[in-house]
Amino acid sequence: MTNAICVRCGEVKWGAFTRCRSCGWQPDSELDVAYSLALSDHYLSEEEMEKYAKSVKSGSSLHMSQEDETYFLQIVRNQRAVELIKRARGVKRKANRSDESDQDSSRGDSDPD
Ligand SMILES: [Zn+2]
Repeated sequence: MTNAICVRCGEVKWGAFTRCRSCGWQPDSELDVAYSLALSDHYLSEEEMEKYAKSVKSGSSLHMSQEDETYFLQIVRNQRAVELIKRARGVKRKANRSDESDQDSSRGDSDPD
């Protein structure tokens, strides 16, 4: 599991993409998630985590370089892609199981997303 710092309040929370228990904030834009990910123990040492937590708590806004932003946004997009692929696979497996009623077998073309 991942420890991450809440971008809003600076408390440590479980997981970069989860809701913060302390302030209730959840990253939802890609950039929010990118910052949350950058502030996780995947990428920071314990010391750095503490340093950033303190600076968020003291009210300073966080800024990544353009390069870092692009890097973490790329990771977020890749993760999303992985999630979508997983979901698509799950749907397929379910569809294959219910072969007793194949009346919906031609619906594979319409992608709800
Ligand atoms: Zn928070």
